[in-house]
Amino acid sequence: MKRCFAMLLILLLLPCGCKKVETLSSAVDFACDTVVTIRAYADQQTVDDAMRLIRDYERVLSRTVEGSDIWKLNHAGGEPVEVNPETAELLRLALEVSAQSGGAFCATIAPLSALWDFKADPPTLPDADALKTAAALVDDGNVSIDGNIVMLQNGATLDLGGVAKGYIADRAADWLRAQGVRYACINMGGNVVVFGGKPDGSPWTIGVRDPNGTAEQSAEVLKLSDGAVVTSGNYERFFELDGVRYHHILDPDTGMPVQNGVASVTILSDDSALADALSTACFVLGPERSRALLSHYAVRAIFLCSDGSRIELP
Ligand code: ADP
Ligand code: MG
Repeated sequence: MKRCFAMLLILLLLPCGCKKVETLSSAVDFACDTVVTIRAYADQQTVDDAMRLIRDYERVLSRTVEGSDIWKLNHAGGEPVEVNPETAELLRLALEVSAQSGGAFCATIAPLSALWDFKADPPTLPDADALKTAAALVDDGNVSIDGNIVMLQNGATLDLGGVAKGYIADRAADWLRAQGVRYACINMGGNVVVFGGKPDGSPWTIGVRDPNGTAEQSAEVLKLSDGAVVTSGNYERFFELDGVRYHHILDPDTGMPVQNGVASVTILSDDSALADALSTACFVLGPERSRALLSHYAVRAIFLCSDGSRIELP
């Protein structure tokens, strides 16, 4: 009798247990200056909490949010600042990619990026002298890290906009996994992390936008169960003036948007923070000069060019 009751209990509980995991919940919000979509086979509360986590990280890593670690550093007048361990970890990765890319990825790009307003109406170009003065402050050699103590010297300031979304997407995925979620897709404006595929064993489908088409047109459709697909494109933030597209990925030497024929770079990797930093670095370097950088990492890169050509590395 006791055994029968136990069996019945298991039978009653089983469908509920499965249902909880197999239900797809989603959340969409604007965070980190982009549209963030989380889809996970989990209850709605868990997905909403993951979104909250993303906004918490934004408050720590954003250049513009007052009181963030990056804001504190940029306003410390060169004094040492104790930051969150995760900020220090992200900064270490940014400096590594900066060194490996010969400064094409530059964590201290802030004086230059601050001169560009891609939302201004009407759009205006930054003053040439202001760009020159700002470019002199851009040098990742001015950042020192000792544990969680960070110091910016010689007037340097940080902008981790080229790597933070990737890092945050990784942290959100880790958090979901720790909650017992087995299948999820986190998309932070072209910075996608997936894990587990779907419950039926099929992979997630990730579209890479056709940079020469409309926002709805995909140039590539990738199928992936686990990993990160991160794209840097000249269509994310830009304005057009006299027939020229001025976009948000800048040449650290001049402060001008990179014009090398590349329209987007997509990096496939296990690590979305790394993929994010590399997507920006490879955009700046272009396909040929990216080869040496990419040889250090187990990643794949897809360059889509303005002339419609496609180059895959390695
Ligand atoms: P997206 O923001 O579209 O995902 P990226 O990952 O390439 O694209 O990040 C672009 C952002 O990175 C810019 O908005 C700026 O904050 C920062 N950035 C621009 N140029 C560089 C550079 N050369 N090195 C590092 N960061 C950069
Ligand atoms: Mg990037």
